[in-house]
Amino acid sequence: PEPALNVAELLALDRRHVWHPYGPMPGRQDPLVVESASGVRLRPADGSGELVDGMSSWWSAIHGYNHPVLNEAAREQLERMSHVMFGGLTHEPAVRLAKLLVDMSPEGLEHVFLADSGSVSVEVAVKMCLQYWRSLGRPGKQRLLTWRGGYHGDTWQPMSVCDPEGGMHELWSGVLPRQVFADAPPAQYEEAYADHLRSLVERHAGELAAVIVEPVVQGAGGMRFHSPAYLRVLREACDAHDVLLVFDEIATGFGRTGALFAAEHAAVTPDVMCVGKALTGGYLTMAATLCTSRVADGISRGEVPVLAHGPTFMGNPLAAAVACASIGLLLGQDWRAEVKRIETGLGEGLAPAAGLPGVRDVRVLGAIGVVQLDHPVDMRAATEAAVREGVWLRPFRDLVYTMPPYVTGDADVARIARAVCAAARKG
Ligand code: PLP
Repeated sequence: PEPALNVAELLALDRRHVWHPYGPMPGRQDPLVVESASGVRLRPADGSGELVDGMSSWWSAIHGYNHPVLNEAAREQLERMSHVMFGGLTHEPAVRLAKLLVDMSPEGLEHVFLADSGSVSVEVAVKMCLQYWRSLGRPGKQRLLTWRGGYHGDTWQPMSVCDPEGGMHELWSGVLPRQVFADAPPAQYEEAYADHLRSLVERHAGELAAVIVEPVVQGAGGMRFHSPAYLRVLREACDAHDVLLVFDEIATGFGRTGALFAAEHAAVTPDVMCVGKALTGGYLTMAATLCTSRVADGISRGEVPVLAHGPTFMGNPLAAAVACASIGLLLGQDWRAEVKRIETGLGEGLAPAAGLPGVRDVRVLGAIGVVQLDHPVDMRAATEAAVREGVWLRPFRDLVYTMPPYVTGDADVARIARAVCAAARKG
C-alpha cells in the first residue's frame, strides 16, 4: 500500500490537482484536511482539535457522522449488492425507499424518480413538466416561472432558475433558457406581492410549463425566509391557469424547517417535488423527484410515452438502503421536539448578534440560524474566527449562517451560536 500522505503533502497535491466547489484553480485558500468525523464533530488531520459541525455538510448530515445505524445499513447492503443497473431490474432498497417517500410526503405525490444529485432531480422535474404539456399537445408551454434570489443547482435548467442578475450564475445569463422572474418574496405576507405573483402566472400562462420555487426558505441564493401563504397563492394561481407547481425541497426537506417538508407549513401539495441532501443522512449521493399521478399519467399518454431519463447509478441500492435507514431514524423519534429545541437555542444564542456593528438582520427558523451583514463577509477571517471557537462554519456573500444536525446537544448549539457571533464580528 502507498504510505499515508502527511498534511503538507496532501495540501500541496490538493492545490495542484483538485477543484473545490466554486473554487479557482489553484484555490485561494487552503482547505482544512479532515481526517474523520463522528457524531456532530469533525476531526482535522493537523491535530488542531475537534470542530463542532455547524453546517451538516450543507444541509445533509442530519443525524451526525459515523452513525451506527446508517453504518450498519451501508455495510449490510454492501455485502449483498452495491449496485446494479435499474433498467429492467429492481430491488428492495429502491422499492422500500419509494414507498417511504410517498408515505411521508404531501398527499397526492405518488411516483418517484431516484436521481443521483439534487441538480439532476431538478433537471428531471423540469423535464417532467415540459414533457407533460407536450404529451397534452401544448408544446408551447416550456418556460418556468420562479422568484428572484433562488438556488436550484449547477446544471443547465437549475441554473436558469437561479437569480440571473448578480447571482452566482450570472456568467451564463445570455445562454441559459430564458425564464420568467418574479421579485424575491418578502418575509411577511403582503397582498401586493401576492397580486404580483398572480398577475405574472396569469400573463405568462400560455408559455409556462411550471412555477418552481424553494418553499419557505431560499437557501444558497441568500438564506431568506418567506411567508408560507405565498405557496397557497401559487397553488391557486397555477390551478386557475393550467400551470404545474414544483417545490424544490432539497434543502428544506426532512425536518429542517420544523416540518417534515416545508410545503406542510402551507398545507399545499405541489405537482412535482424534489428532495436530496438529507435523504441519505448525508452519507451517499442520492436525490429524488416525486410527482402526482396527473403528471405521470399525462406523460404516459403522450406520443413518446416514456420519461427519457436514466442515469447509470439510478436507484443505487447502497444509497437507497442508507436512505431508508435515515428516514427510519428520523421518524422513529420526536424529531419535531429536537428541531424546536435547536430553534430555541439558536434564537437565544444569536440574539446578541443583532447589536453588533455591521449586522443587518438575524433570523432563525427550525434548525437554521442566519446573521446577515451589511457588507460582503471576509470568508477567511470569519471562518478562522469560528474555528477558534471550535466550530466549523462556511460563511458566504453577506451571510454567516448555521444549520446544525438536529441531534446537536444544547451546549454545542450554544457554542455554534457563539461562533456565528464571533464570525460575524470578524467578517
Ligand atoms: N436545490 C436546492 C434548494 C439546493 O439547496 C441545492 C444545493 O445546495 C440544489 C438544488 C442542488 O443540489 P446538489 O448540490 O445535490 O446538486
